[in-house]
Amino acid sequence: MDPVGVATAPPEARPGPAWQSKCPWGAPKPTSISCSLADVMSEQLAKELQLEEENAAFPEVVAVAEGPFITGENTDTSSDLMLAQMLQMEFDREYDAQLRREEKKFNGDSKVSISFENYRKVHPFDSDSSEDEVDWQDTRHDPYKADKPTITPKKGFIGKGKDITTKHDEVVCGRKNTARMENFAPEFQVGDGIGMDLKLSNQVFNALKQHAYSEERRSARLHEKKEHSTAEKAVDPKTRLLLYKMVNAGMLETITGCISTGKESVVFHAYGGKYVHYFTNEDDKVIPPECAIKVFKTTLNEFKNRDKYIKDDYRFKDRFSKLNPRKIIRMWAEKEMHNLTRMQNAGIPCPQVVILKKHVLVMSFIGQDQVPAPKLKDVKLSSEDMKKAYYQILNMMQQLYKECNLVHADLSEYNMLWHDGKVVWLIDVSQSVEPTHPHGLEFLFRDCRNVSQFFQKGGVTEALNERELFNAVSDLNIAADNEVDFQAEIEALEKVNEDHVQKHGKKVSAFPSDGDPPIYDE
Ligand code: ADP
Ligand code: MN
Repeated sequence: MDPVGVATAPPEARPGPAWQSKCPWGAPKPTSISCSLADVMSEQLAKELQLEEENAAFPEVVAVAEGPFITGENTDTSSDLMLAQMLQMEFDREYDAQLRREEKKFNGDSKVSISFENYRKVHPFDSDSSEDEVDWQDTRHDPYKADKPTITPKKGFIGKGKDITTKHDEVVCGRKNTARMENFAPEFQVGDGIGMDLKLSNQVFNALKQHAYSEERRSARLHEKKEHSTAEKAVDPKTRLLLYKMVNAGMLETITGCISTGKESVVFHAYGGKYVHYFTNEDDKVIPPECAIKVFKTTLNEFKNRDKYIKDDYRFKDRFSKLNPRKIIRMWAEKEMHNLTRMQNAGIPCPQVVILKKHVLVMSFIGQDQVPAPKLKDVKLSSEDMKKAYYQILNMMQQLYKECNLVHADLSEYNMLWHDGKVVWLIDVSQSVEPTHPHGLEFLFRDCRNVSQFFQKGGVTEALNERELFNAVSDLNIAADNEVDFQAEIEALEKVNEDHVQKHGKKVSAFPSDGDPPIYDE
């Protein structure tokens, strides 16, 4: 307490004159309070006290909020929404942790256990922390069913003669009802009725039970609504939080805006931050001055038709079946990261990976001053530049195939950027596969068709046709001189490879080039 504040208290705050103290209701409060220094000081003091109190009450909350990205010193408090969301998430986690403790206590060593899973705030799929990765018991149980053994025997009464007590006895029944309140949903506060020897009449108990039911349904509905509404938007609160953390950690300076909204992803522009020490055992990394943030959409529907890319990709095969949809989406981001890294290592112009966090991939920005390099489909190139671009792409396709052991699988003028007026950059490689993918060669052929058509239409007379391009990239030397036969041969090759995989449990054979693929980071 600030003694100065008390000493300089204004006269109004002191006891009033004698006539006032005689008044049976005490001294009347002055109607207008002038703002004095002391008031301001005490308000300040009150704030500090409250902060102290909060810190004492929620020490864990503060600690948990400091994930790998956030350090105590630079916790940004400028975004109320973000703060509220972060707090809410932590509260929810706390709540779940408490729930888990209660569940444990409730079940003890009993062989039959009751799961509180339905009462959790954070769904296991939504959470990222490893402590939430525990397998939740699936032994569902009706929480409203009385578990306690009843004291009234089967015959329905105890005692003899006039001491007979039936199951309808008011006291017994009341106590039993009180005990049964324990079976309401955990968030339903029932107090210590048993300790107080509270006796609830059937009528009251039934009303309470009804209320507990409807409360629970209401809460479930609210949760459901929340889930759905977030799925609608491109960037749900959890993604926003993730982005916020990146900014907060200083890894990104600012996220300036959205570059593109596609069916499957949203891309943002951001200014890179300082050097960041991501994880304790990793060296500091230089953040590019401008970054592109690709957020893979968590709306699951869009990804259904992409199954065939990833399902048959042997690199991801084992994992695919075991995953929930949310994790599959993260796998797309992961795939893009691995593929970009391979390309980077081969020296192909492509975005450099900065960091991958769940379904959010941060990479270097191709472009300048927030303006992304135009797609090839959007620039009007001189015939000379067009020719230059063509040869670059021919080269890149060969490198991609031979050095990275990859087929782009969505190569077209939409996914090639013309940067700095001289270099073609490849982007969008989340769907890229290895040539031995069951459909890898078909994808390559499609890529070749797109490229060759684009440049032939663009007036590059040197441009190979799609079959020539296919052979130039793959060295498979398919001789067919028409598209139908060519494709038939491609499919036959794929089948040979597939059979080989079936028989020997590993790929290769029909591919003359490189033997085993280079392993980068899988
Ligand atoms: P989608 O699957 O939605 O096609 P892309 O990876 O092709 O995803 O990104 C969509 C658009 O975002 C691109 O056409 C390009 O304009 C822009 N973009 C993506 N990555 C970058 C990057 N690293 N630098 C600049 N622009 C980018
Ligand atoms: Mn694209």
